[in-house]
Amino acid sequence: MAEYSAARSVLVTGGNRGIGLAIARAFAEQGDKVAVTYRSGEPPAVPVKGEGSFLAVRCDITVPEDVERAFQEVAQAHGPVEVLVANAGITRDTLVLRMSDEDFDAVVDTNLKGSFRVARLAAKGMLRMRRGRIIFISSVVGLSGSAGQVNYAASKAGLVGMARSLARELGSRSITANVVAPGFVDTEMTAVLTEERRAQIVSQVPLGRYASVDEVAGVVKFLASPDAAYINGAVIPVDGGLGMGH
Ligand code: NDP
Repeated sequence: MAEYSAARSVLVTGGNRGIGLAIARAFAEQGDKVAVTYRSGEPPAVPVKGEGSFLAVRCDITVPEDVERAFQEVAQAHGPVEVLVANAGITRDTLVLRMSDEDFDAVVDTNLKGSFRVARLAAKGMLRMRRGRIIFISSVVGLSGSAGQVNYAASKAGLVGMARSLARELGSRSITANVVAPGFVDTEMTAVLTEERRAQIVSQVPLGRYASVDEVAGVVKFLASPDAAYINGAVIPVDGGLGMGH
């Protein structure tokens, strides 16, 4: 059975807003030492109660030097990352014939390669500690596909192969790698959808609504908890039933 320190060093990429911020808050509230990356704007403020602490590091996950520096800053402040949540992601939706190489590359470089960059550095420290949790935020569309999202769905499907390879490669050191696949969540990413599209999506979700950011955060927190020590290489849907069967 893996052992856990009381307050773990947790890193959440894209933790300045949306799902990432909710995940950061969930860990901070239970007393972990939480770091988030932010790329633009002001560093987010997360009130921390009890033993935990919070750090915001500026980092664009498409820039390798940024990622290196962020990991150094986190290690100095909180110790090596024990829980990595690779959450940062973007969309550049358009139909395939209109999708440029640039649209494709930007999404894959952020969602897939950016996650690889942070997972590789996290794995380095975790291998030394002989423990760790890596959690990738994918999407229901990575498995079901989505018209207008060839780039995004490909990047999110890639995370499944990445997590399962890491699960096989790192499992003997008590490091798990899992994927959370949310459906539609109320954030700035989905705020751009038209009312018509929103109604269409909701009509296909058995629960008949979007998820809240906290409903995703709770599952991520569980995957990093001692209760999830034997869950490895799994894809956990948090989609209200939208993707059932995939
Ligand atoms: P938001 O658009 O609200 O936030 C995206 C976050 O990612 C921001 O913090 C943003 O930082 C960060 N980010 C984007 N690009 C980079 C980069 N190059 N380097 C560092 N950070 C970056 O998205 P959500 O909170 O909705 O989504 C979070 C994750 O969940 C994403 O991976 C998304 O694909 C996934 N997801 C979302 C769903 C939804 O319905 N909302 C459904 C399924 C999956 P900045 O503020 O600087 O731009």
